[in-house]
Amino acid sequence: MGRFPAGSTTGDGFAIGAVNLKRKRGFQVDLRVYRLDLHIHTVLSPCTEIADMTPKAIVRAAVERGLHMIAICDHNSARNTAATRRAAKGTGVSVLPGIEVTTSEEVHIVGLFPTDDAAEAVQEEIYARLYGENDEEVFGCQVVVNEYDEVEDLDKRLLIGATTLSCERVVDLIHRFNGLAVAAHVDRDGFGIFSQLGFIPEGLALDALEVSKRSDFRTVRSKYRQCLQYTLTASSDAHYVHDIGVAYSLARMAEPSFEELEKAFKGVDGRAVLEGRTRKN
Ligand SMILES: [Zn+2]
Ligand SMILES: [Zn+2]
Repeated sequence: MGRFPAGSTTGDGFAIGAVNLKRKRGFQVDLRVYRLDLHIHTVLSPCTEIADMTPKAIVRAAVERGLHMIAICDHNSARNTAATRRAAKGTGVSVLPGIEVTTSEEVHIVGLFPTDDAAEAVQEEIYARLYGENDEEVFGCQVVVNEYDEVEDLDKRLLIGATTLSCERVVDLIHRFNGLAVAAHVDRDGFGIFSQLGFIPEGLALDALEVSKRSDFRTVRSKYRQCLQYTLTASSDAHYVHDIGVAYSLARMAEPSFEELEKAFKGVDGRAVLEGRTRKN
């Protein structure tokens, strides 16, 4: 991360090049605090401002707002994730492929993946269990773009719809392709796991819970006691460029990569998600 030299700060009061973690085997790893927004939509999602959430615009906003890592999570599709990652080449922003699946219980679960292939494989499983056709008059076009913001296709599926997969099956599917499963905006009335189910079912192997920009970790933990057992993240769930980074997580990691994020979610080797922040537009 040449853009963020040791000794600089995130602007959040955390020193970046601070922690030298001594490992048993005798070598040291520099852990730094990174700023992550792990839930961002593109022009592929129905209801986004068309021509606004393109790969280049998303990456530009991420750079401007000092985000080190973002994840692209469109509704029931990952068709714009690879293009956004390619658009970020050379900017220092790390882009994770993701997907926001609507379960049969109408709960939103975000999958974050180590590779484009993994995200696309999950997408194919989702497509096979997603029915109906998009009504462009009602929901708008669902635009597939390349890294130059050129239109490549219009997705005709009803991406806003619910799949026939339960929460449990969605989490299993994400894990089958080595992804991380995060219950999205758990504090929200619409499509949050608590509003839809009332609680997190025992044995549901979520890797983290996401708090929306409307709340904070403390409030969510005191309102929903089950949250005490999980890693929390804060994400913008941006559908518009001005919302990118409006909520973000601070995580201590060796670098902004999927492998390090997985360790931060698990709280191993000194990695951790430290807190969530929101900023005013
Ligand atoms: Zn959602
Ligand atoms: Zn979303």
